[in-house]
Amino acid sequence: MAKQRNYLITGGAGFIGSHLTEAILAQGHSVTVVDDLSTGRWSNIGHLEGNPHFRVLVASCDDVSLMREEISRCDFVFHLASAVGVKLIIDRPIETIQRIVRGTDVVIDECSKYRRPILLTSTSEVYGKSEQIPFREEDDVVMGPSSKRRWAYACAKVLDEFLVLAHYYQTSLPVYIVRLFNTVGPRQSSQYGMVLPRFVEQAITCQPITVYGTGEQRRCFTSVADIVRGLLCVPEHTEAMGKVINLGNNEEISMNELAAQVKLLAGSESEIIHIPYEQAYGPGFDDMLRRIPSLERAEKLLQWTPTENLDTIIRSVIADKRQAAQS
Ligand code: UDP
Repeated sequence: MAKQRNYLITGGAGFIGSHLTEAILAQGHSVTVVDDLSTGRWSNIGHLEGNPHFRVLVASCDDVSLMREEISRCDFVFHLASAVGVKLIIDRPIETIQRIVRGTDVVIDECSKYRRPILLTSTSEVYGKSEQIPFREEDDVVMGPSSKRRWAYACAKVLDEFLVLAHYYQTSLPVYIVRLFNTVGPRQSSQYGMVLPRFVEQAITCQPITVYGTGEQRRCFTSVADIVRGLLCVPEHTEAMGKVINLGNNEEISMNELAAQVKLLAGSESEIIHIPYEQAYGPGFDDMLRRIPSLERAEKLLQWTPTENLDTIIRSVIADKRQAAQS
């Protein structure tokens, strides 16, 4: 059996973090989660308490002394902690920017001191308004103006990427960066505006399904199981070190089609309605019409491709939300 390793996962009580935690524990390794439960939820990881290989610290990852202690004790850091969701970024821009930039600054500094390898999860949001489809990792990023609060998230995450890569260039710290594209699956909260859990909750409670704008904007959704498999295989490939890698699915669907598909698969009577962006997010909101990852690098460096189709994912989210509604 492979040597037992100690993993530190910041943001481990979040949607993706909790699935990653379970997968690593299932491999027989130890996991320490650091999560301040700001957007993460105790219910995502509560069932793991009692597992002797699992610890959780309810703390912020910008707590320097705590992170120093924990990073010195671990073998590998998955840094997932971040403010998430377009709605949160619009409503709470100060906390969003601070949490993203400060947390990463502390975590990477301590990784550097103890020479611990780190994987940073970034986001497709950093491609901004680029219309060069599909998005390749070495493409230019095209941001909107700072008066449009949405772009604060992209800028903060790009700054994180720069900082992490700076440690690779200047000190050869083993670093990995992945950009995730619209990850969906069981446990994802609707609270921060993500479209699939919102549509599913609306469909199963017979509320109107709220499509924003014309609904012709398109996205590519990736199952959390595929993303976790990708995250785990990144550090196994030394050629991935010091590079940014897209992880996502390249099958597009419009929000109108998604609403119709959710309604169909949930057997729902909900009406599908359209809401102007201004009403949904407030004035001055920029959305992007298309967002497709190039998966060339992931395929070449990691031999990774997504496997789960959208209908399967939607069905799993419907089952999860129905179960949550009963408990
Ligand atoms: N969206 C929607 N209805 C909702 C929530 C979101 O039509 O109730 C749209 C949103 O405007 C965007 C797409 O769905 O065009 C994906 O939104 P999400 O916040 O999930 O992800 P992102 O915008 O980061 O891709």
